[in-house]
Amino acid sequence: MGAHGKRGQNAEAPPFWQSKVCRKTDKNGHRERRENPSSGIHLCPSVKFVENFFLFFPPSCCLAIVPRMKKSLPEQAIEYLEYLKEQGITHVPASGKTFAPAPKAAPAAKPDAVVQPEKKTPVKRKNTDAKSKVPDAPKSGKDTLESLVAEVGACQACELAATRTNTVPGEGCLNPDIMFIGEGPGADEDAQGRPFVGRSGKLLTKMINAMGYSRDEIFIGNIVKCRPPGNRVPTPDEMAGCIPYLKRQIAVIKPKIIICLGATACRGLVQEKLPIGKARGQWREFEGIPVMLTFHPAYLLRDPRKKVFAWEDLKTALKRLGKEPPAAAKEG
Ligand code: SF4
Repeated sequence: MGAHGKRGQNAEAPPFWQSKVCRKTDKNGHRERRENPSSGIHLCPSVKFVENFFLFFPPSCCLAIVPRMKKSLPEQAIEYLEYLKEQGITHVPASGKTFAPAPKAAPAAKPDAVVQPEKKTPVKRKNTDAKSKVPDAPKSGKDTLESLVAEVGACQACELAATRTNTVPGEGCLNPDIMFIGEGPGADEDAQGRPFVGRSGKLLTKMINAMGYSRDEIFIGNIVKCRPPGNRVPTPDEMAGCIPYLKRQIAVIKPKIIICLGATACRGLVQEKLPIGKARGQWREFEGIPVMLTFHPAYLLRDPRKKVFAWEDLKTALKRLGKEPPAAAKEG
């Protein structure tokens, strides 16, 4: 240690940081000092630490360690100089050594950095377990059409919430003869928040009128209340997640019969296994309500030859209600 001319090194003495009794103050609060046998000078343990520390580690290296020490390096340096002053030392001879600036440290490798898998950007996913999000019953009181509209409007239970413009809860009257149930909103419905308002909707309105009703006299809803992107078929999870709303709507609306429009609606409401071409015209049941299965208007637009079959199904439904189609429709 060339920096302390009055003191020599004791090669035998263990460095203080290895000492088991390394206290900075004694029980009376006085600084603990340890005698250096070779020089007769009392050395503060923390001084010895700084003294040895500077020898073996360049300053830049020290800086990296500073945050881990209880006292910062400048604090310890000041403490050391004050101690020398107390000892009557007025000059600190330089050792002549200069420390080359430390090479720019490469970013420290993490100890456990074996091969880290490439970090993937987390995909924001909404909860797809919609079943658990949509309660089967209202938290308090009874459902009303209005309360259901409000609840659906705030629903975030499945991924469709992220891409919708408007929810489409359905529209019509309470206690109607017929409730029509389609698959889900398309682009027009999503834009307006109303069911069956596009080309398919116009055809459905014609079908309703042909049965002798106006849209105000029936109810129109969908299996899912939000538009699947690109008009894709809703997934089984999305359907199952949204069905509690439909069940609650049906319980409030209390239709005499339900007409399911298309394969997806039939699958979603009555878990129909048959293809719609075979299932159409048949009766099923949902919670005690008769359900007629028929084609979706969009399908009828693509294949108008099937309209005649759909009309047969609608007449069968009317018959169940004890009604006949109006004379004009019969003639048409
Ligand atoms: S589709 Fe149904 S369950 Fe999904 S966010 Fe819309 S309202 Fe909620």
